[in-house]
Amino acid sequence: MAQISLTLPDGNARSYPAGITPAEVAADISTSLGKKAISASVDGAHWDLQWPIEADAAIAIHTMADDGPALELIRHDLAHIMARAVQEIWPDVKVTIGPVRDKGWFYDFDRAEPFVPEDLARIEAKMREIIAARDPVRTEVWDRARAIQHYRDAGEPFKIELIERIPEGEPLRMYWHGPWQDLCRGPHLQHTGQVPADGFKLMSIAGAYWLGDNTRPMLQRIYGVAFKDRKALKAHLTMLEEAAKRDHRRLGREMNLFHMQEEAPGQVFWHPNGWSVYTTLQDYMRRQQRRGGYVEVNTPQVVDRKLWEASGHWDKYQDHMFIVEVDEEHAREKAINALKPMNCPCHVQIFNVGVKSYRDLPLRMAEFGSCNRYEPSGALHGLMRVRGFTQDDAHIFCTEDQIEDETRRFIGFLSGIYRDLGFADFRVKFSDRPEKRSGSDAVWDKSEAALRAATEKAGYAYEENPGEGAFYGPKLEFVLTDAIGRDWQCGTLQVDFVLPERLDATYIGADGAKHRPVMLHRAVLGSFERFLGILIENFAGKLPFWLAPRQVVVASIVSAADDWCHEVAAALESAGIRAELDLRNEKINYKVREHSVGKVPVILAVGAREVEERTVSVRRLGESRTSTQALDALLDTLRAEATPPDLRAS
Ligand SMILES: [Zn+2]
Ligand SMILES: [Zn+2]
Repeated sequence: MAQISLTLPDGNARSYPAGITPAEVAADISTSLGKKAISASVDGAHWDLQWPIEADAAIAIHTMADDGPALELIRHDLAHIMARAVQEIWPDVKVTIGPVRDKGWFYDFDRAEPFVPEDLARIEAKMREIIAARDPVRTEVWDRARAIQHYRDAGEPFKIELIERIPEGEPLRMYWHGPWQDLCRGPHLQHTGQVPADGFKLMSIAGAYWLGDNTRPMLQRIYGVAFKDRKALKAHLTMLEEAAKRDHRRLGREMNLFHMQEEAPGQVFWHPNGWSVYTTLQDYMRRQQRRGGYVEVNTPQVVDRKLWEASGHWDKYQDHMFIVEVDEEHAREKAINALKPMNCPCHVQIFNVGVKSYRDLPLRMAEFGSCNRYEPSGALHGLMRVRGFTQDDAHIFCTEDQIEDETRRFIGFLSGIYRDLGFADFRVKFSDRPEKRSGSDAVWDKSEAALRAATEKAGYAYEENPGEGAFYGPKLEFVLTDAIGRDWQCGTLQVDFVLPERLDATYIGADGAKHRPVMLHRAVLGSFERFLGILIENFAGKLPFWLAPRQVVVASIVSAADDWCHEVAAALESAGIRAELDLRNEKINYKVREHSVGKVPVILAVGAREVEERTVSVRRLGESRTSTQALDALLDTLRAEATPPDLRAS
């Protein structure tokens, strides 16, 4: 029998007969590893312990201690176990697909009657029975005719359609969890008892079209989440509860910040309160950019397809673009335009006006660029995923030698802004060359080395994202962690050798010859819309005082206090503080409750005593105590708090 050589993570190679399985390799390495093994990596592919290995490969054995593979298997096995449970309870249900996603999995079922929330507990109980039974998981490869006949006999039309979509010649793998069989790529655990019975929960039911196609049957999707133990599950459920309380769509309503409506999907109607936060943040960013050595520009929204053809977007990005046909009355030809999905090609147009010399570089060109991208309506989510948005975009035109300096400078710029906005910590991810790419290896070597060195010199460690760079250059991504532990990728810096070439950007070098500049695409916030969503959720609506839209509400307790209320509000306004009056004939407790829901940071209650003493009674959001203060002292305090962080004397 042919021998193969398997290289272990420690670099040692062992010789085995071809067709050996990872289960046998693990047991050969040590008895305890043989017992603990759950799956393997074979040349980077996640490999079932039962699958034979036919050729030389690098192999690593996984155990439950390896989070990535362990969670993938637990979640995937649970998808099968759930489908089995559903069919054991309701034998007439047809099964379709059930992938692992995010923190769990879902499975789509075809059933005439709708599932109701009470069914979830019943399915969970059945799943726990299946787990307790420790049923073995086994797998076989079948030929197509046998598989189709099997599903015809079983009355599972969706599975037959899935098989027909798998390319001819690809093996069809079957898996059994006890007596229950499913068509599945695998890999899986070895028996149902390996799934932690108290680490999962069924979360919700939703409708989903078969294959995502709205002309096909509507199926019922059941979502579950799963972790390695009860503690991790509980932490996740607590985070979800906390996230629901902070949901920016709900807070957006309660704080009267914005709304969205059917006639403009994925686009925001900013109300006065929301627009106040938006423009305050934009003013702050504009000051930072000026200090950071950027020039600000503005470019058109509707741009002829010719430019998008030249930039390559027409070819590669058209599915995400809003196409605008203009049929002008006297035009001989229809002009086909697109709403700009990004600003880069327009910035090159500005760069290209006039002759640029090496002395003009680096040229940092910023735009609060309004962009439109077609996102499928199902993907839209409040401010977090929109169709119309404004980026804090900039392009740095520089030489290859300047990449490192500019990157380091950008990381310093970005970290200062994140700190000001309440995010002291962020992570850096580095993505290097993908398989399909433009540019020579020498240029890639140089720019990858520049990004690594810049990140290190800026004092940050980075995670590697091998092969995840754009085809036009490597990139850095900056990921914030919010108050409840969720990650948000916001900032980015991407090196681009291709666009300057495509749009023929040049500068005259010190040698008097023409050269190509490199472009660095970079953003700190990403888009204002999404970043505001993140800010609202991070602070649970209690925005820092300088960003709060209504900083102070002056609320009368008795109508005799109206005049003093007016005077107080006017004094606040002239101190640069955003104040609002509430002179309604309502109880003060009612007013306090309403403005607390609206997340107003400071409520001043003014009654007869305050009028007489020319004071105000101060109540801070989230505190039940009030304090009586003289107006002047309060103005000094609030004026300091209202000053944006970059304008404070430190
Ligand atoms: Zn599966
Ligand atoms: Zn760009």
